[in-house]
Amino acid sequence: MTTQHPKTALITGANKGIGFEVARQLAKRGFAVFVGSRDMAKGRAAAQTLCDAGYEATFIQLDVTDPVSIRQAAGTFSQKADHLDVLINNAAILEDHGETIVKLNPELLDRALTTNVKGAIMVTQDFLPFLEKSPNRDQIGTRIINVSSGAGALGEMQTYAPAYSVSKTALNAVTRQFAGALPGVAVNSVCPGWVRTDMGGKGASRSVEQGAETIVWLATDAPATETGKFWRDRKEIAW
Ligand code: NAP
Repeated sequence: MTTQHPKTALITGANKGIGFEVARQLAKRGFAVFVGSRDMAKGRAAAQTLCDAGYEATFIQLDVTDPVSIRQAAGTFSQKADHLDVLINNAAILEDHGETIVKLNPELLDRALTTNVKGAIMVTQDFLPFLEKSPNRDQIGTRIINVSSGAGALGEMQTYAPAYSVSKTALNAVTRQFAGALPGVAVNSVCPGWVRTDMGGKGASRSVEQGAETIVWLATDAPATETGKFWRDRKEIAW
């Protein structure tokens, strides 16, 4: 069964936090959203919450660290939709809050790079054939959004969470690489700001709605000609 919906979006790590809110806002704007989640129960529950609100949402099991899971997710996607308009690489981990690079456990670095960088590359590679089939390329544009962080901006970087920060700098490089390799696709990095989620903590300054705002803008209303850039609050920021 192929969805008849004109606009489709896949969000990784969409069972909670900013990813779920982005899925909710895109669904509200008429997208058929695909809720990526590595955990089946959490992903199903998140997609069901959106369906209960009257939106079109489908759970897709997707562990971004596992090439088999990504390939299977692409197979599942192909049974539900014939094209993808927007891919949002949102899934990430932050495990080294309070650590210093001087004593950084290399396993923390491995895990951060595998999830936050390699994951985004592998998901983009496997879903690219669906982005290339988008019939909406000329109207709304085909878009890839990598959810990065100001922690990865070299100009601002000091000692905060070294593995996470290095991974987000590398993710920004991934954005530049795909933007260069895919002239027909708008590929951008975005910092959501400091957001109240499990990752950001209760004391963060922004709500999930605020954190999702520029991501959703890049997925919809931002000019499709904007590519290879780093954004926060709808403004380009320095790498
Ligand atoms: P969050 O609440 O911790 O959510 C992270 C999501 O990523 C969860 O759904 C998690 O799934 C998923 N995930 C982690 N590893 C995964 C894997 N291997 N495969 C698939 N999914 C995986 O974090 P958040 O605050 O919403 O963060 C979303 C994005 O915003 C991240 O890229 C983060 O770096 C970025 N960001 C956040 C802040 C902030 O202040 N919150 C600031 C700057 C940037 P599980 O539920 O299974 O763990």
